[in-house]
Amino acid sequence: MVELTDKVAIVTGGSRGIGSAISSELARNGVKVVVNYQSNSESAEKVVHAIKESGGQAIAVKADVSKSDDVLNLINETINQFGKIDILVNNAGITKDRTFRKLSQDDWNQVINVNLNSVYNTISSALPHLMESEAGRIINISSIIGQTGGFGQTNYSAAKAGLIGYTKSLALELARKRVTVNAVCPGFIETEMVQEMPDKVREQIIASVPVQRLGQAIEVARSVLFLCKDGEYITGQQLNINGGLYM
Ligand code: NAD
Repeated sequence: MVELTDKVAIVTGGSRGIGSAISSELARNGVKVVVNYQSNSESAEKVVHAIKESGGQAIAVKADVSKSDDVLNLINETINQFGKIDILVNNAGITKDRTFRKLSQDDWNQVINVNLNSVYNTISSALPHLMESEAGRIINISSIIGQTGGFGQTNYSAAKAGLIGYTKSLALELARKRVTVNAVCPGFIETEMVQEMPDKVREQIIASVPVQRLGQAIEVARSVLFLCKDGEYITGQQLNINGGLYM
């Protein structure tokens, strides 16, 4: 088991939803957390404040992960404040759901840029630091949609499936460097992303989940904690947090 006290983590898109739950759960276990946000500084500062109130350490850093200069700044800020990087959680993501015939080039590019190309930016900048860690961890938040496909989600499923392939290849390359690389694939989790769906669609989804409910962000956060703490011999895997919806 890895002692997490004083480890340093970056959580992209950490100011709400699953990212906020991951930030809080890691901090509760002694990790110093960099809560990355794109534009909503208020909600990022709220997460940081709550972590500090419970005795943890965190800072909020603004960066659009699809822009390499912003990401370089995020990594530099992390090093300036905490001196190292042990854990990188690539959580930032967006959807622009349309059937392919209605999908614009822009809908395609934005989703691929934020969900997939961003990971080139974060990992290429953070990797030298992660390789200095005694137990480096890269955790890519993919999705069940990257495994099953999804109606109206060609852009999103391509990005999330891409993340899974990327995870496996990088895991092979970094296995000897004591850096594990895994994908966490949530099913349908009760966050704003899912709350935005029409009620009827949400009800259909719940009815199709074997455990008959949506997942909670904290349940995804606990899987990330598990990989950080007990995941020395786990690399290149897809950890499914989906209530049995995809096996
Ligand atoms: P969310 O919309 O609540 O959170 C996404 C976060 O990413 C937000 O904080 C947003 O500001 C941030 N973000 C978006 N673009 C960014 C950018 N360019 N730079 C930096 N940050 C950016 O969604 P969520 O449900 O918490 O999803 C978190 C992750 O989990 C996403 O990658 C999503 O694809 C994935 N996921 C979610 C579900 C679900 O059911 N909610 C299921 C499977 C996978």
